[in-house]
Amino acid sequence: METADVVVVGGGIIGMSIAYQIARRSDMSVVVLDKGAGLGEGSTGGSAAITRQRYSLIENVRIARDANVVFRNWAEFTGLASPRAIFHPIGVLWMLDDDPAAVAADHARLAAEGIDVAILDPSDVHEEFPALSTCMVPFDLTGEVPHECRDGEAFLLERDTGFFDATGALEDLAEAARARGVEVRLRSEVTEVTVAAGRATGVVLADGTRLSAGTVVNAAGPWCNRVSAMAGIELPWELVPTRIQVMYRDLPPEVPRPLPVVGDAAGGIYFRPEASDQQIVAGSILEEDEREATDPDRYDHNADRVFVETKIHALHHRIPSLPHRGRLGGMAGLYTVNRQDVLPIVGPTELEGFVVANGFSGHGFKESPMVGAMVAAYLTGERAEYDTDVPMSFFAVDREPRAVEDKTVLA
Ligand SMILES: Cc1cc2nc3c(=O)[nH]c(=O)nc-3n(C[C@H](O)[C@H](O)[C@H](O)COP(=O)(O)OP(=O)(O)OC[C@H]3O[C@@H](n4cnc5c(N)ncnc54)[C@H](O)[C@@H]3O)c2cc1C
Repeated sequence: METADVVVVGGGIIGMSIAYQIARRSDMSVVVLDKGAGLGEGSTGGSAAITRQRYSLIENVRIARDANVVFRNWAEFTGLASPRAIFHPIGVLWMLDDDPAAVAADHARLAAEGIDVAILDPSDVHEEFPALSTCMVPFDLTGEVPHECRDGEAFLLERDTGFFDATGALEDLAEAARARGVEVRLRSEVTEVTVAAGRATGVVLADGTRLSAGTVVNAAGPWCNRVSAMAGIELPWELVPTRIQVMYRDLPPEVPRPLPVVGDAAGGIYFRPEASDQQIVAGSILEEDEREATDPDRYDHNADRVFVETKIHALHHRIPSLPHRGRLGGMAGLYTVNRQDVLPIVGPTELEGFVVANGFSGHGFKESPMVGAMVAAYLTGERAEYDTDVPMSFFAVDREPRAVEDKTVLA
């Protein structure tokens, strides 16, 4: 039987971050097992990889802020001379229609954490991002209510972040982890977690291969409940694989640049440039657009026509110069929503030797470097450069649900 100190089930951005973070601080032997034929076949492959730092809970702000330092120093962090992933700090503009006092309070809260934020009025927005309308009146899709624009008063801009490249980052981490001795095995589906004398002792693969391990980490993304069930444990959290859609539209040269990442409450969307500014990708910020996927192996990977046709109106409302022509497409992916408080669960469980890192909703990409650091520090007892000071107990499995302002992807 093969043996490893740590077996990580799932080689998405969370599992790979955990493996790499262990390898960069210890000599522990680590094997990452993924059932996919390639990297990124789970949530990570569909991720918009937006790296915003504005969250309602200050610990989430700090985790996102600390992860941004990693994204900005990616070559040094990974030790790769030519990483694939490129960080795009194009700014994240919040168009939420909050009153100026609320925007000022948000500004003060984030600035106190060292985040480079600014308050923009409509004329500032038009100057910095000339393509954007500053109207905050939702578009009436029935056509029955005449649209009368009303400008928002104050908008918050995170200047020092934007978006990264989810699959590029995953491939970089796999390369960096392998360079430090981690074994990454694809087409390796875990079908059993072995347990003896009240602790996890390893895993069995679909082809019958057995691996014994000191620790088994469940980083199986939308399949996490299945892996926990293999270990015979029931967690007190409702972790729901959720189908989530995005749409794409060509972004021709006549639309004025630059464009930031935008969170748009009037249209119920977020969007950002894609494909070297040739396209725009947009998703929803509304809970009603999140649909439970009863079987993560079987869901419609295409975007619904009604989703694309609704969101394109929101996009035209925010970017009036976007032509009503060009390719229009979309896709659907999965992420795992923790219905109780939309925060992940990370850390040890009631079963000794069985650690979970699950339920990341729409935040897992940006949180991955710090989640990797938390789990690696717990398993090795070592801290490393770039670690966050937010303790893993913030995401503890045995916590009470935390009071978040918003249970949507905005959280
Ligand atoms: C459309 C979309 C947009 C998003 N936008 C953002 C964003 O802008 N910013 C952000 O921070 N986050 C975003 N997210 C969320 C983010 O992508 C996820 O939270 C993150 O990728 C979760 O990573 P993971 O490693 O936990 O899961 P996954 O990437 O799903 O990895 C889990 C892996 O486990 C493997 N696996 C499962 N079961 C087994 C088994 N039994 N044996 C072996 N392997 C197994 C799977 O093959 C898979 O590769 C978005 C997600 C989606 C879908």
